[in-house]
Amino acid sequence: MADASHRLPTDTDDGLVLIISGPSGAGKTTITRGVERGIPGSVFSVSATTRQRTDADVEGVDYRFVTDDEFEAMRSRGEFLETAGVYGKKYGTPKAWVLEQIKRGRLVILEIDVQGAISVKHQIPDAFAVYILPPSENSLLERLRSRKRESEEIIQRRYEQGCAEIERARSCGVYDAFIVNDVLEDSIRQAIELVNAERARRRR
Ligand code: 5GP
Repeated sequence: MADASHRLPTDTDDGLVLIISGPSGAGKTTITRGVERGIPGSVFSVSATTRQRTDADVEGVDYRFVTDDEFEAMRSRGEFLETAGVYGKKYGTPKAWVLEQIKRGRLVILEIDVQGAISVKHQIPDAFAVYILPPSENSLLERLRSRKRESEEIIQRRYEQGCAEIERARSCGVYDAFIVNDVLEDSIRQAIELVNAERARRRR
């Protein structure tokens, strides 16, 4: 059980934190953006990261790209709700912004990994967490290859880490729902339905 002393004051009428996690290549970013488009008033939490920006990334939209020193300064000022090391790089969720959005009754979407989800659930037990699964382990490998983003060595590493993360997600007890992403549009619809049902249940 979460220790109540660590909980943050987040009670509002309709504010809800939605955590979306999944291994690289499972389609979670597309599903996250689909949920954001499909639920009026939802907002995406832009994490800070020390990883390199790629051509596909938009500064301030996908991430806030910062140096290691900037990240550590933000951490020491207590600006993060949670931080995690992923593939040797640092990632952090903006605390004040997330809490403000919840107060405003928004659906706040956090696309974070399993360690981040565990940490957020500890502080905000009301958060709703969804894990995106690939249809099979083999399809995960195929999708990672088809993105043509990384070398085969990195693909293999991400694949192995992805499989380990799936095991951790299944056993950690933090996820409220698992979605097998076979057909993208169906997965987005399923995620939106899950959130709407959860919000309706809480209003009752
Ligand atoms: P990528 O670098 O491929 O965008 O993300 C790598 C991993 O880091 C993904 O699993 C993503 O969900 C996770 N991630 C992104 N931002 C955060 C964050 O602020 N906190 C945590 N814990 N994980 C994050």
